[in-house]
Amino acid sequence: MIPLEEARAHVLARVQRLDTVERETDAARGLVLAEPVVAAEPVPPFDNSAMDGYAVRAADTEGAPVELDVVGTLAAGADPAGVHVGAGQAVRIMTGAALPEGADAIVMVEATTVLDGGRVRIATAAAREDHFRRAGEDIALGDVVVGAGTVLTAVHLGVLASIGAAKVSVVRRARVGVLSTGDELVEGTAPLRPGQLRDSNRHSLIAHVAADGCKVVDLGLVRDDRDAVAAAITGASMSCDALLTSGGVSMGDYDEVKAVLSELSDDMRWMQMAIRPAKPFAFGTVGTMPVFGLPGNPVSSLVSYELLARPSLRKMMGHPDDDLDRPRLAAVAGGPLLRWPDGKVHFARVVACVDGGQIVVRSAGGQGSHQLAVMGAANALAVLPDGDGVDTGGAVDVIVTGELRPLPR
Ligand code: AMP
Ligand code: MG
Repeated sequence: MIPLEEARAHVLARVQRLDTVERETDAARGLVLAEPVVAAEPVPPFDNSAMDGYAVRAADTEGAPVELDVVGTLAAGADPAGVHVGAGQAVRIMTGAALPEGADAIVMVEATTVLDGGRVRIATAAAREDHFRRAGEDIALGDVVVGAGTVLTAVHLGVLASIGAAKVSVVRRARVGVLSTGDELVEGTAPLRPGQLRDSNRHSLIAHVAADGCKVVDLGLVRDDRDAVAAAITGASMSCDALLTSGGVSMGDYDEVKAVLSELSDDMRWMQMAIRPAKPFAFGTVGTMPVFGLPGNPVSSLVSYELLARPSLRKMMGHPDDDLDRPRLAAVAGGPLLRWPDGKVHFARVVACVDGGQIVVRSAGGQGSHQLAVMGAANALAVLPDGDGVDTGGAVDVIVTGELRPLPR
């Protein structure tokens, strides 16, 4: 058996960052920016009012209350050319409207009273620049708005829109093939015949791959037949940047993925990792396509996706080295997380909740590698080093794979 870290390093050393493409900004959420974006416009583009109120000369409001003549109105979007605030005058102004010439402060509407005869009473004295928003206060002309290597979020899309950057240079999405292997597997809803099992791995893996920003190529179910597996993998290598297979990498007589990969790949390595679940794992490059031979047991398949395939796909899509893995956090065991010594690190499926500033974890249920429903109830993997596990109240690290929730009361 080899440590997980060795398998991870082996795989990460063999996957390459994909090429850079230009994309519509709005289609680039989750992608990694390949070149910095420099602001060709300032934001805000012009000096404007932060409040609904009156544009005034601050000196005129000394000794407030004072009364001023209202000489105009500026709404958001209005051109301020020709609007001027002279001595003893005010201009009605709305939030976001450009500042009129002559004004050096805004008095918010709450501090004013409209009077007869086109006049306004100002209740409190204004200081210079009160409620001014200056051009470029958000983004100055020439600023690097978003740096290379940034993973674009929903907020970044707005930031880029604010400077009119309609296209960005990003690392492209990986095209990832997903296939299941196993003579026992069936697709669809027809009643099962004896010995048959519905394929679940491909459905979870496809959803994972899509959620992780890749393009999915659904390669379906493949029989435990050497030629069929070889044809599927060779076919995938023509059109995919990476391939995830599940099943066929253990010690069984019909574990054909392992056999086929050792023929098709010059660097195929079959690993027995010192972890539970997900001990068996095969990896090899076919042409230039990395193939992740994930184990068939549903929980094992998804755990090895999390620990090995997902960081690799993220590396391919340009994520920096410190942004390949899920967050690993210190937590407290809210109940026993017991195990037995076997020379392996266990990744227990747990429910992690936030309680008074700390993360409390409890087992999600049975820890068999076929118990996928339990994993469905979990939102984290507790990392249990070799030994007897952790008692209630003990410290435990967790890999947070889902949403952290508040502790149910
Ligand atoms: P294998 O790794 O092919 O020996 O499969 C290990 C176990 O996982 C067996 O019980 C298989 O029936 C099961 N299995 C393999 N592939 C899948 C799949 N795609 N969906 C659900 N279970 C699977
Ligand atoms: Mg099998």
